[in-house]
Amino acid sequence: MVKIEIDPGAGFCFGVEKVINTAELHLQDGKGLYGLGEMVHNASEMERLHTLGLKTINHRELLELKPERVLFRAHGEPPSTYQLAEKLRIEIIDGTCPIVSRLQKKLKNTYESMDRDREQMVIFGKSDHPETIGLLGQVNGDAVVISTKEDVSKVDPGKKVYLFSQTTMDPERFREVESALNELLKKFPEKLSKDSFRSDCTICGQMKKRKPGLSAFAKKQEMILFVSGKNSSNGKMLYEYCKTINPLTYWISNSNEVDPEWLKGVGSIGISGATSTSRDQLESVLNQVKKLTSV
Ligand code: SF4
Repeated sequence: MVKIEIDPGAGFCFGVEKVINTAELHLQDGKGLYGLGEMVHNASEMERLHTLGLKTINHRELLELKPERVLFRAHGEPPSTYQLAEKLRIEIIDGTCPIVSRLQKKLKNTYESMDRDREQMVIFGKSDHPETIGLLGQVNGDAVVISTKEDVSKVDPGKKVYLFSQTTMDPERFREVESALNELLKKFPEKLSKDSFRSDCTICGQMKKRKPGLSAFAKKQEMILFVSGKNSSNGKMLYEYCKTINPLTYWISNSNEVDPEWLKGVGSIGISGATSTSRDQLESVLNQVKKLTSV
């Protein structure tokens, strides 16, 4: 009989779980609720929240609709969004993950104490990711955003570097960027002091643990069904990583995408997912696999 198991380390991260609980709580009074941006990069979960009454809007619609109250997502917002909401007298329900809030403050404090003629801030992140947009807002947009080790060419080697990271980036890629920056700065020793590079790996602890946990889990299984939204960057990264550990890994968004052909002759099936995949979705895939393998 086929063995089916859910990855014990999978499921929503703390920040996503918290904002979804906040949305559910505020939807109970039946007054409806606007959410600024997708609360979670997960189409099924967003559909569920929309059924409960959540209306997702973008920044332009915030200005046009002037809703009574709006929920900010776990990724955080730049100060300009708070200022706009205040000007429009919109009540903010702040779902920013506390870890992201702490990082925003850290960047702001560092920026304020920097000598900007001789020092620069570098953020390892995706320039169009909402969390990075929120981080840039803390420093008046005055930071170099890099997403690969090749991007270090954007950094001024004549200035001291303060390196931080978007919380959801890949820790291994962060180390690559760190090494590439060290190499770059070494090329200009005459311009720099010993203390010319400060690196702070601000990737979330839950993200750091995910890859080792997923690796151990994927090694034990003959096949992996990896569940996540196709627009989740964390999902894409973890799926690709999982495939390097267990080549028989399939990426699906929901239980309907399980192909019965994949399951034939497989002795053990592991089900895992991104930090934006709920335990309910993993359970639903488990039930679907049970159904398909019980005939
Ligand atoms: S990945 Fe970490 S920092 Fe980002 S929302 Fe989740 S718990 Fe918060």
